Amino acid sequence: MSKIRVYQLAKELGISSKELIEKLSEFGVEVANHMSTLEEDEASIIMEFYDIDNKKPKDKKTSKKQNRENDETKGKEAVHEREEKKQESPKKIISIPEKIIVKDLAEKIGKSVSEVMGKLIALGVFATINQEIDFDTAEVICGDLGIFVEKEEVKEEVEFGLEQEEDKPEDLRPRPPVITVMGHVDHGKTSLLDAIRKTNVTAKEAGGITQHIGASEVEVHGNKIVFLDTPGHEAFTSMRARGAKVTDIAVLVVAADDGVMPQTKEAINHAKAANVPIIVAMNKIDKPNINPDRVKQELAENGVLIEEWGGDTICVPVSAKSGEGIENLLEMILLAAEMLELKANPKRLASGTVIEAKLDKGRGPVATVLVQNGTLKIGDSIVAGSSYGRVRAMMNDKGKAIKKAGPSTPVEILGLSDVPEAGDLFHAVREDKIARQIVEKRKLKVREENLNATARVTLEDLFKHI
Ligand code: GDP
Ligand code: MG
Repeated sequence: MSKIRVYQLAKELGISSKELIEKLSEFGVEVANHMSTLEEDEASIIMEFYDIDNKKPKDKKTSKKQNRENDETKGKEAVHEREEKKQESPKKIISIPEKIIVKDLAEKIGKSVSEVMGKLIALGVFATINQEIDFDTAEVICGDLGIFVEKEEVKEEVEFGLEQEEDKPEDLRPRPPVITVMGHVDHGKTSLLDAIRKTNVTAKEAGGITQHIGASEVEVHGNKIVFLDTPGHEAFTSMRARGAKVTDIAVLVVAADDGVMPQTKEAINHAKAANVPIIVAMNKIDKPNINPDRVKQELAENGVLIEEWGGDTICVPVSAKSGEGIENLLEMILLAAEMLELKANPKRLASGTVIEAKLDKGRGPVATVLVQNGTLKIGDSIVAGSSYGRVRAMMNDKGKAIKKAGPSTPVEILGLSDVPEAGDLFHAVREDKIARQIVEKRKLKVREENLNATARVTLEDLFKHI
C-alpha cells in the first residue's frame, strides 16, 4: 500500500537517485532505475540507513518521537538548502517540457550530450540521444548536474488552438449585457425576475412564458438584456472558482421594508470582488411601512453609495408585485451597459460558460450555456469541462429550436457526452478529435493529481511510521 518511487524518496532525502540506488544495492535491494517502486519496508531500511550516513549515528535509545523530530529537522534543512541553492543561482531553474529529446535537454541545460547520457546510464536508463525522456527522468539527472528544472506549462489553449488571436477591433460588435440578480432571501429576487419576464412577454408575445432554461432574454426598445436565473451568490462563487466571469452587471434587490441584511452584504462583497457594477433595485415599494432613506443609508454604510448620496450607484424603486418601476429598472440596466461598451466577435468559434446542466432521461446530458464570444452552431464540436460532443440541437430561452447563437445568448444544448458542471467553460473546436483529446488530457490530469496526492500521503505515513 505504502509504495514510493526511487526518485521520490531520493528527492525527499535530498540525495541523487544514483546515490540512493547504490545504497539500496548495498542493502541487497536491487532496483532497475529511478522509476522503480520501493516497498514500505525497503524504504524504511534506507531511511534508517540514511540517518547513519548523515553523520548522526542513530542512538539506539532514542525514541521514535525523537527520530521523527530529527527527520523533520533534516527535511527542513534539506528544503532550506534547496531554497538557498535556488536563491544563489536563480538562473538555474530551467523550464523543460513534459517530454524532451535527450540532445535537446543537453542543449537546454547547457551540458554536453555525453554528460547527460552518462547520467542517464548511471540511472539505468538506456536512451539514445534522439530518444525522448520524461520529465521525472530529466529532473533527476538535472538534479545530479546541479540544475533545477520545472515543468513547462503548455497552456491547453495554446496546445489545442483554443486561444485564437485576439479579436480584431473591426470584428467586434456590441453584445447584450448579462445580468445576475442578487440579494437577501425573500427580498424578491424571483418575483422581480418573473415581473421582468412578464413585462416583456405581454409586450411581445402574449402567449405567456414557455420554456425555462435557467436564463432569459428580455427585449427593451429593441435592445436585449440577458438575465441569469442562478441564485446570485452561486453565479459568483461556483462560477468564479472556475475562472468564469459571466456577469456584466449585478442587480442588488433590497426590500424597502427590510433594508441591508447579511446576504445583501454578501452580495455586495461578491460584486465588488468581481469588479462588477451594481444597480440597486429597491423592491416592495408598494408596501405601507417602508423606509427608503434608511435603506439608502445602510447601503452607504456598506460601501454602496447611490447617486443621491454623491456616489455613482443607480437605485431604482420597484415593486415586483405591482410592476411599478420595472421598465425604469430595465432602462437603467441598458444605460449602465452602454457605459461598459460590451463587445464580442460573432465571427469566431464560440466560447462561454455552462450555466446549468442535468441528465435528462430522454435526451441525455442537457446543458444551458451562455455563449460569451463567437457564434455557436448546430453541428459544432464542443468541449465543456470533462465532457465533449457535437451540438445536436439548440433551444433558446423561449423553447424555440435555433440553428445558431451569437454572443450573450443563453442556449440549451444537446449532444454532450457527459453532464458538465455549472461554471465549466466551453469551447467550440475545429474537429471532434480535438475535443476528445482535450477531455482525455483533462481526465488524465485529474487522475495524475489524485495519484500525486496519494503519493504524498504515503510519504507522510512513512515518516510517521519510522
Ligand atoms: P427571493 O427569496 O428573493 O427570491 O424572494 P421572492 O421573490 O420569493 O419573494 C419573497 C416574498 O416577497 C414573496 O412572498 C413575494 O410575494 C413577496 N414580494 C416580492 N416582491 C414583492 C413586492 O414588490 N411587493 C410585495 N408586497 N411583496 C413582494
Ligand atoms: Mg427566490
